[in-house]
Amino acid sequence: CSLKEHLMEINKSELANIELAPQMVQIRLFHEMLLKGGNRKMFVRRFRENLNVALRGLRIRKIIQRPMMFLLELEEEGSWEELKARLTNVIGVEKFARVWRVPPDLCSVKSVLNQIIPKLNPSSFRITARRSDKAFALTSPEINQVLGTYVHEQFKVPVDLDKPNLNVRVQITDKEALVSLMDYEGPRGMPVGVAGKVTVLLSGGIDSPVASYQMMERGCEILFVHFHSFPLVDGTSREKVDEIVRMLTRYQYRSRLLLVPFARLQQEVILTVPPQYRVIVYRRLMFKIAQTLALQSKSDALVTGESLGQVSSQTLRNLSTISAVLDKLPVLRPLIAADKETIVKQAKSLGTYTTSIIPDQDCCTLFVPKHPVTSSRLMEIEQIESRLDLDKSLQETFSSIEEKTYHWPL
Ligand code: ATP
Ligand code: MG
Repeated sequence: CSLKEHLMEINKSELANIELAPQMVQIRLFHEMLLKGGNRKMFVRRFRENLNVALRGLRIRKIIQRPMMFLLELEEEGSWEELKARLTNVIGVEKFARVWRVPPDLCSVKSVLNQIIPKLNPSSFRITARRSDKAFALTSPEINQVLGTYVHEQFKVPVDLDKPNLNVRVQITDKEALVSLMDYEGPRGMPVGVAGKVTVLLSGGIDSPVASYQMMERGCEILFVHFHSFPLVDGTSREKVDEIVRMLTRYQYRSRLLLVPFARLQQEVILTVPPQYRVIVYRRLMFKIAQTLALQSKSDALVTGESLGQVSSQTLRNLSTISAVLDKLPVLRPLIAADKETIVKQAKSLGTYTTSIIPDQDCCTLFVPKHPVTSSRLMEIEQIESRLDLDKSLQETFSSIEEKTYHWPL
C-alpha cells in the first residue's frame, strides 16, 4: 500500500478491529433460488421468515440481508455452537461459515490475514477468492495472486493449491469483504412453504418420514395423516408417528397431525372383502379419506412413501388401482424409484430410523394373508367395494378424528 493508503488502512483497520471478533456468520442460500427469476424475492422472504423462527431464543444482535446471503451478528461467543446445530437443519441454507467482515478493499483483508496467519501458523495455505462485486478492480485470480504473495512474503508460509493446511476464503461484495476459514453444510432445498401444501399419509414405517422430508426440501408444507387401528391393536403406531412428527417439525416449525381411527372400517371390510383384496381396499379407503382431509386443509396433493415393488401392494398395477380412487387430487410418490438402502440411509441421517423400526402392528396387515393379490383389476375391486355400505362408519370415522399440533422449538 502507498503511504496514503496505509494511513487510510489504519483507520479502516480500527473499524475492522471492531468487527474482527469473528461474531459474524454468513449464510449462503441454496443456489436453485437464484434461478427463480421473478419469484426469488418471495422465496427469500419465506426463507427469512423460517430463519427467524429457527433462530428463536438465540442472542443475535442483527441480521443483515444481501442478495442470496444473510449475515448474522452474534451477541456472544457462546451462541455459536447452538447456532451451528440449528443452521444445519434450516432448509434453504446451502452453506454457512463464521466470517470476519471488513470494508471491501485488500488492505482491510490483509489486516485480517495479519491476525489469522501468525495465530494459526499453518504449514501451507491457499487463498480462494470470489468477487461478487464485478466492479471491484481486481478479478478473483488477481486477488488470489496479490493476497497469496502477501502472506507468502510476510509470513514465509508456502502456498499449496491442492492440499493446503489452511484455505482462506475471501469474498468481496460491493459492501464488504468476508474472510472465512471453514464452510459448514446446510441441508440445501427450497424454503418450506414456497411450493404450497401437501398431505402426507404417515405410517410410522421407514419410508413415509423420508418421503415427507423430501417434499419439505422441495418447499412443501405438510399436513400429516395417520390411520390407526387402536383399540383393535395397541397404541404403538400412534406413539411412533407422534415422535416422527415431532422430529420433522424441526424443518417446518409448525405441524398438524390427524389421527384417523380405522378399526371400524376395517371390521366392515373383513366381513365382506376376500382376504387377498383387503390391502388394496384398505389403501383405497385411506386415500379417499385423506383426499377429503387434504381438500379441507387446502393441500394440493397427497404424498405417500410407496416405492415400486417394495411390497405386494406396491406393484405397478396395484399402485394404479389404488390411485384410481382419487378424483380431485394427485398422489405424489417421491420414493417411487428409490432403493431401500438409500431410503434407510436418509432415514438414519434424519434421525427417524430408530423410531420407525420399533415393532408395531401395522393396521394394513390386520387380517390380511401373506400373499395378497399383486395384479389387481380396477373393475374387480370396484365390484367388490360396491358390496360395502360404509356411509355410517365413514361418518363416525370423520367425527372421531383427533388432531395434534406441534410448534418448534418443542
Ligand atoms: P412405510 O415404511 O412408510 O410404512 P412400507 O414400505 O411399510 O412404508 P406400506 O406399509 O405398504 O409400505 O405403506 C405404503 C405407504 O402407504 C406408506 O409409505 C404410507 O404413505 C401409506 N400408509 C401405510 N399405512 C399407513 C397408515 N397406517 N397411515 C397412514 N399412511 C399409511
Ligand atoms: Mg408400513
